[in-house]
Amino acid sequence: MNSQYINWYKKIEKALFSLFKCFNNLCSLCYTQTLKQVYEGSRKKRKLWCCCLIDNQVHDYWPQLNIIQSRIDKKWYSKLQTKKLSLWKSMPGEGPCPALGAKGCMLSHCRPLTCTTQLCEKMLFILNELSITNVAYSSPLQIEDIIKVPDIAESLCNIRAKTKIVLEKDVREYLDAVTSFKDKLAKTDSITKENAILKSITLMEG
Ligand code: SF4
Ligand code: SF4
Repeated sequence: MNSQYINWYKKIEKALFSLFKCFNNLCSLCYTQTLKQVYEGSRKKRKLWCCCLIDNQVHDYWPQLNIIQSRIDKKWYSKLQTKKLSLWKSMPGEGPCPALGAKGCMLSHCRPLTCTTQLCEKMLFILNELSITNVAYSSPLQIEDIIKVPDIAESLCNIRAKTKIVLEKDVREYLDAVTSFKDKLAKTDSITKENAILKSITLMEG
């Protein structure tokens, strides 16, 4: 695996994490609401439950993820096993993801591609409420479905059967597009954004 590609992938990941941070406490509210609904035995709106509680991206992306994570720390997976979240009952779907710990995701770099590039239904709803996008929010979208970015992410983390050559200018273009999109969200009025975040959580109510 190409070290330069991994470094570029980390830069893209950092830019996207910075975008996700602009959703403030959304993920924490989503997590809490999910656990509340699990406790209450809700069967409705499960599709909107916290992605880390119902998905298992670590195993879905195992071949690529293991190669990248093993380069960072050969014992990465066994470490996850000792700290992963234990729940009092099983979740629908494949979750919880083994990388989910008490303080969120335990993978600080090179997470599975979907965790890095996907915006969930609640995020899309918030972006629409703030007039930043006008997209359908019935299902998650990838960042490339929302803004124009070069098609390089899969090649950088080596999940394409035939990896295409990525140039530094493509990475720069990708980073600029994400940063400019993030700036729009960062500049929105804080109360309006907070209201949109709270409203997005009501989507989860049955
Ligand atoms: S479903 Fe969306 S809001 Fe909930 S934890 Fe996942 S990314 Fe965050
Ligand atoms: S790898 Fe991290 S962000 Fe992705 S599903 Fe697992 S816990 Fe969530």
